[in-house]
Amino acid sequence: MAENSKIEWTDHTFNPWIGCTPVSTACDNCYAEVLMDHRYGRVSWGAGEDRSRTAASTWRNPRKWNKHAANTGDRPFVFCASLADVFDNEVDELWRRDLFALIEATPNLVWLLLTKRIGNVRKMTDPARGNRLLPRNVAIGATMANQAEYDRDRMKLAEVKTFADVLFTFGSFEPLLGPIILDKNAPDWIIVGGESGANARPMNLDWARKLREQAFDLQRTFNFKQVGGRAADKGGHTLDGIVYFDRPQIAAQVSA
Ligand code: SF4
Repeated sequence: MAENSKIEWTDHTFNPWIGCTPVSTACDNCYAEVLMDHRYGRVSWGAGEDRSRTAASTWRNPRKWNKHAANTGDRPFVFCASLADVFDNEVDELWRRDLFALIEATPNLVWLLLTKRIGNVRKMTDPARGNRLLPRNVAIGATMANQAEYDRDRMKLAEVKTFADVLFTFGSFEPLLGPIILDKNAPDWIIVGGESGANARPMNLDWARKLREQAFDLQRTFNFKQVGGRAADKGGHTLDGIVYFDRPQIAAQVSA
């Protein structure tokens, strides 16, 4: 996942566990692996390795955020998870059930579940298989870094709305690794960004501009997150000098 020290489109970040296996070209420079495996040695990354559940104190944080939101009337966004993937096949199913129970117990929070395994969502939330349904205060997102990933995953993301009562869908086009042509099945919220970190692959700003045009034509919410580490234009968090931070637009779709 992306570096989570400053994610403009969320209020909180929550990691129920740490550890994952790369499944996409978008994982090639996984920040979480660099940080939690190579730097801190907290977990070993990859297939067959144990995931590490986070502390009970960490799991208590969303209840505090929920209580605060209940008092203020806000609906803060919680990004889950920046150091793992909620729909990872190698995670104990009981952990996912615990996570969904926590989400249900915090109805004032809008939980953003971003995955690179969107094809797993249906089977992992199917009561017929003994799983918990997706809670209703969830938005589901898929990372789609290039046209092949968009073509493969856009319908899987759109179809989540047919079996779950999610708040909205979102697509993380970050790291954006090539031009992408959208269609009417594009997600409700389109977040675009270049790759960060020492080995960042460059993003052509015209790819981002084209996504912006298409998002506007399709009447989708658009956010530009960042240019990325080695892109030609070092405009940082703007695209053509404009900060696209349309979270209020998507937030307005979320009924209290
Ligand atoms: S899915 Fe996310 S956390 Fe897992 S390896 Fe890929 S980038 Fe890293």
